[in-house]
Amino acid sequence: MKILVAGGAGYIGSHTTKELIKEGFEVVVFDNFSTGKKELLVGGELFEGDLMHKESIKKALWSKNIEAVLHFASLIQVGESYADPRKYYTHNLITSLNLLDVMLEAGVKYFVFSSSAAVYGEPLQNPIPESHPLNPFNPYGQTKFFVEKVIQDYERAYGLKFISLRYFNAAGADPEGHLGELHDPETHLIPNILLFLLGKKRKFEIFGKDFPTKDGTAVRDYIHVTDLAKAHVLSLKKLLKSPQSEFINLGTNKGYSVLEIINKTEEITGEKVLYTESPRREGDVPVLLASKEKAEKILGWKLYHSNIETIIETAWNWHRKCAKSM
Ligand code: UDP
Repeated sequence: MKILVAGGAGYIGSHTTKELIKEGFEVVVFDNFSTGKKELLVGGELFEGDLMHKESIKKALWSKNIEAVLHFASLIQVGESYADPRKYYTHNLITSLNLLDVMLEAGVKYFVFSSSAAVYGEPLQNPIPESHPLNPFNPYGQTKFFVEKVIQDYERAYGLKFISLRYFNAAGADPEGHLGELHDPETHLIPNILLFLLGKKRKFEIFGKDFPTKDGTAVRDYIHVTDLAKAHVLSLKKLLKSPQSEFINLGTNKGYSVLEIINKTEEITGEKVLYTESPRREGDVPVLLASKEKAEKILGWKLYHSNIETIIETAWNWHRKCAKSM
């Protein structure tokens, strides 16, 4: 069974490629290395191509006899999506439409999509169930929302079968130390703290200490990237065995504030995190927690690595390794 992993040289795509290979799938990694990294290739076959160009997708799908597609390739910086919405709408929507178009032409019906908790916007309740109204307020979240609408229509009209996975806060690194986060620029909390401790960032800022939470800092649901990767493999198996389209949250049901993450990081690294206080980032909500019941029920998903200590330890090992080799 050959699977195309679009964006397989990125953070979550590479961890998923590793899990797919472990489970005996033949993987074709499709990437243009605009944000993906050669260091994150873990095996399978590489097809260097660009989702903005249908011809290269066609070549990959037809010549490799692909039976299902996992789509990770996307721009992901919420702040940048406010500043340059055109870039996000153009890139994230056209790439997804091209990919789906060629899949339908080639008769490839199974699709696993990297969606995001950003589709919910400001939550009316926490933990958030999948039935929560969708009201994305940043352009990044809008692009995920629109692709979710497209795949629903394509299911109805063309028989596409999909699982759209709504990630909460992906974090941590491959427990075996081969893979991890390599974003440039890095915007996420845990790598930002670690890069600051390693002297790779000049300062570390807390964005907002005036949220209506227990310590004033924002609370997020951190999920280990290997657990996320395993959910993709389970989704693929589910689609192949009993195809039914679904929207599924991937998170832990549990949240940590920015200050709690800082404290845990200090315990694990033995280093003091000296931070500066900055205003809230545009669009940051106080609390975002996933209801994980549906993932457990439909996919049989279990969390193996998502306790906060493992998340920070694996990320710390990865960033220290990268810092030494740079
Ligand atoms: N955050 C922070 N400093 C940073 C990066 C993030 O205080 O350098 C905060 C951010 O405002 C949010 C939380 O940490 O409340 C998680 O942010 P991240 O960018 O990791 O994920 P998001 O929830 O925005 O997708």
